[in-house]
Amino acid sequence: MKSFDLIIRNGYICDGTGNPSRHGDVGIVGDRIEAIGRLADATAKETVDASGKVVAPGFIDMHNHVDHAVLAFPDAESYIMQGVTTSVVGNCGLSMAPVSDAHRDEVRKYLKPFLDKEFDYGWEWSTLTEFFTRVRNSGTILNIAPLVGQGTLRIAVKGFEPSPATGAEMARMKELLREELEQGAFGLSSGLIYPPGSYTTERELTELASVLTPFGAVYATHIRNEGDRLIESVDEAIAIGEANRIPVEISHHKAAGRVNWGKVNATLRIMEQARARGVDVTCDVYPYPAAMTTITALLPSQALEGGIGEMLRRLADPASRTQLAAAIGDGTMKEENWIRGIGWKNIVIAECRAASRYDGMSLEQIIAGRKPEDPFGSFFDWLLEVKAEATMVLFGMDEEDVRTVIAHPLSAVISDSWVTAPRAGGRPHPRGYGSFPRLLGKYVREEKLLSLEDAIRKITSMPASKIGIRDRGLLREGFFADVVVFDAATITDKATFTNPHQYPEGIEHVVVNGRIVVTRNTLHGVRPGTILRRI
Ligand SMILES: [Zn+2]
Repeated sequence: MKSFDLIIRNGYICDGTGNPSRHGDVGIVGDRIEAIGRLADATAKETVDASGKVVAPGFIDMHNHVDHAVLAFPDAESYIMQGVTTSVVGNCGLSMAPVSDAHRDEVRKYLKPFLDKEFDYGWEWSTLTEFFTRVRNSGTILNIAPLVGQGTLRIAVKGFEPSPATGAEMARMKELLREELEQGAFGLSSGLIYPPGSYTTERELTELASVLTPFGAVYATHIRNEGDRLIESVDEAIAIGEANRIPVEISHHKAAGRVNWGKVNATLRIMEQARARGVDVTCDVYPYPAAMTTITALLPSQALEGGIGEMLRRLADPASRTQLAAAIGDGTMKEENWIRGIGWKNIVIAECRAASRYDGMSLEQIIAGRKPEDPFGSFFDWLLEVKAEATMVLFGMDEEDVRTVIAHPLSAVISDSWVTAPRAGGRPHPRGYGSFPRLLGKYVREEKLLSLEDAIRKITSMPASKIGIRDRGLLREGFFADVVVFDAATITDKATFTNPHQYPEGIEHVVVNGRIVVTRNTLHGVRPGTILRRI
């Protein structure tokens, strides 16, 4: 009689391919799936009864910022509780390495608003391998697949200097990228609204991305503009991929600002046309009509030339203040202009490190408490007071666009959040707790926007194959045993914008590398995750 370490019995097996679910059992030995089907006669050391529940591959979140948080939150509570077993990190141009001695402090300062305020990171690493050795030593519940951030690479070579890369600087960036890919990194990300990504020309990006070609590795991009110049920015991303014959992933696809709503119909068509020419372009989307990022993204990128210290100096200088206010106010700012696009009242502070009394307040409220007749002056004074150490939620998208992108066959669904837990405080975007249950509860069960099988495909096999993760993302014999058991009738995201620190309902069990790590929102105290390598 066949014997397993773990059998998940009598579930509806939704295997990640998009094919219809079927009734059956999943047998696991060690960290691998050994058998799928009817295993009524087999014995097991441990059995999970999945009667009436869906059994799916562990969810793969191909876009988030979990990188550093796994050190402060090795149990990744907000992720593992929603069924995520693999996290692709290093997105939006920002990875934790490579870091150079000359510019270490600049990266550290720039990432500070995202980092846990209590935790001592140390910042002693130089390469991704060194950073993730530290993660592995402290243990991780999630599997982690790293990308290399173009912004981080450029800071390592030339800090926040905006000038075009010289020949020698270009060669150094390419060398650093190649070394990380040889060590197992999955691809290159860019964040072209954030300095120094915003200083980087299409030509420089195209040349850097040429390093990806022999590896067949992905270029994942937070494009240059998701509002007024959305279409040109999608074109740029596709051109970089087409020139180098590499896969392109357009990150957190959206149309920001009311005047741009509906443009996703055009951009999805552009992606379809590019695919017809042979470009492997796809996109991803988080299931909410609001964004979240650092407060400095409201400023024109010239404000950040030289780094955060220089930015604060400019915000205190009357002439620079006039210039910055004019660039935002008259719309000549060439980056995403959120203040003009959605207004002060739709920009809400998520977490302000310097003073938590601002958490949950809109910029309109903050300005009203100062000099309402001078909104820019009030805003800049407030930024100086809190040293710009704040994150914000931006209510700037159309729910109809979110639905259009989720339903489209070319999109994967992601969280775009970082790890949090109730003890972290603040008012983070609820996507950190609810993205995947929200897809399966709101969009599949309640609104019937897409089938369960299609939704599961978008959070398992589709991201796995795009990023180049082999042996995960499907329930298939021989694959790693990352599994989620959930109740399709009850799965619900509970986190909201006003009360975000809430775990979802309906996730019964989460299995990582053959070990049960969570049962109904209770951790089992094991961290069987690992750092994945492309090679
Ligand atoms: Zn981004």
